[in-house]
Amino acid sequence: MTEVRKLYILLAGYEIIRKSGCIRNEQRNIVLAVPICCYLMETSRGYVMFDTGLDSRNLADVHAARAQFVDDTFPAAPVVLPEHEVMGQLAVLGIAPSEITEIVLSHAHGDHTGHLGDFPNARITVQKLELEAAMADTGRMNFSEYANPALKWNVVDGDTTLMDGLDLVLTRGHQPGHQSAVIRLPNSGVKILTGDVADLLENFDREVLGSSMDDAAALASIRRLKAIAADTGGEIVPLHDPGFVQTARLSPLFYD
Ligand SMILES: [Zn+2]
Repeated sequence: MTEVRKLYILLAGYEIIRKSGCIRNEQRNIVLAVPICCYLMETSRGYVMFDTGLDSRNLADVHAARAQFVDDTFPAAPVVLPEHEVMGQLAVLGIAPSEITEIVLSHAHGDHTGHLGDFPNARITVQKLELEAAMADTGRMNFSEYANPALKWNVVDGDTTLMDGLDLVLTRGHQPGHQSAVIRLPNSGVKILTGDVADLLENFDREVLGSSMDDAAALASIRRLKAIAADTGGEIVPLHDPGFVQTARLSPLFYD
């Protein structure tokens, strides 16, 4: 029996990124505003989040935000408008933070870990390789919210079935222990939450890489998710594709 009843896509803000950061060898003067998404699943065992967006408190001071977020790939700081706030979107759905009992973390970058500390009853499922890499890192991954000792980790090693209808797939490449999720819904069928396996649908269509720590693994992960989509008739749901969010059903709408 399918245990995942609904999938909500939460549009949680935008990052300003050179297209060459998403797809290698693109001209550097092309700049994209790419969405930051995270996801809420209603299941027979309660609410599950996949990633948690970016913490807008890190944007409050413009100068500090520039120092933290702007570099050669990201020419400006992220944009999180009031309507993008994750906690506010959950409130619109009538869901209290305490009702979120499971979080799946794709990987340890700050546009995914922003609200990890805001769900007091959640267990956070992360790949062993990713947790080890994040805890050893003092740069982009080692955000204060991630190193919070109050977080309750559920460390898994490789592909894992979290519950019927929710499978986690180790998709290394972008990060050492990146994972994606394959969800089976009663009416909408299979949805593949890619995380940051690649940013754009173009990466999947053309099998071209963006940001990666291991190119062979990153390409294998793109191909693996495409194979799962082909085998299941499922849909690739990219987390950072600006075209996709314009046609997707965004929360408070949902897929069931
Ligand atoms: Zn990301």
